[in-house]
Amino acid sequence: MLLHALIPASRANGPGLRAVVFFQGCKLGCVGCWNPRTHHFHGPEVTVDAVAQEVLRSCHEHALEGVTFSGGEPMQQADSLLGLMHGLLRQAPDLSFGLFSGFTEHELAQGQYWIWGDGSSEQRRKRLWQEIRGCLDFAILGRFNQAQPSSLPLRTSRNQVLRLFSDRHSPADFTEELTEVSIHEGGRVEVTGFPTLGLPW
Ligand code: SF4
Repeated sequence: MLLHALIPASRANGPGLRAVVFFQGCKLGCVGCWNPRTHHFHGPEVTVDAVAQEVLRSCHEHALEGVTFSGGEPMQQADSLLGLMHGLLRQAPDLSFGLFSGFTEHELAQGQYWIWGDGSSEQRRKRLWQEIRGCLDFAILGRFNQAQPSSLPLRTSRNQVLRLFSDRHSPADFTEELTEVSIHEGGRVEVTGFPTLGLPW
C-alpha cells in the first residue's frame, strides 16, 4: 500500500485516543483541499502487515481506543484498507475503526469508486465496501466543499455526513473540532485535525 503518514496517538480524529493511518493518493480533486501533498499515487510502497505491526505497537504503548483511516483517499486503496483492518482485528479485536472518505455512501454502495492499480468490476467494489463497512464503527463521508464550511464534529464541510455503523459510539462521543500540532525531534512539525481558523503558518 501507499502510506502518506501514520500518527501513533491522536485525540483529534475521532473518539478517544486513536492511531491515524493516512493513505497516500486521492483522485477526487476537491477545490481547497488542505493537504494536496496526499494526492499523488506515488511514494514508497509498504506492506499492509508492516503498517499493522506499527499500529499494534502504538496500541500497546498508548492503550488506544481505535484507529482512524484517512488520506488521501483510503477507499482508493480499498483492498489494502480491508486487509489492514482484518490484520488488526486478528490481534486487537477490541479496536474501534473510523474512516474519512470523500465518497458518498451512495457512491460506495453502488461500487462507483476507483481503486488504484485495479480494474475490478462494480460488483466486486460493492462487495468490498460491504465488507469494509462491516468492520467500521463510524465514517465521515462526502467531498470537501469549501463553499459550505462547517464546525460540526469531524466535518470540514456541511455536506459531509457522520455515519455510525455499530453501537460502539454515540453522536455525543464526537465532540468539538480539535487541531493537534506535534513537534518532532529535528524540528519536523506535523498538524492534524481541523484547523478551522487556517494553518498556523
Ligand atoms: S477527498 Fe479529501 S484528500 Fe481528496 S481532494 Fe477531497 S479533501 Fe482532499
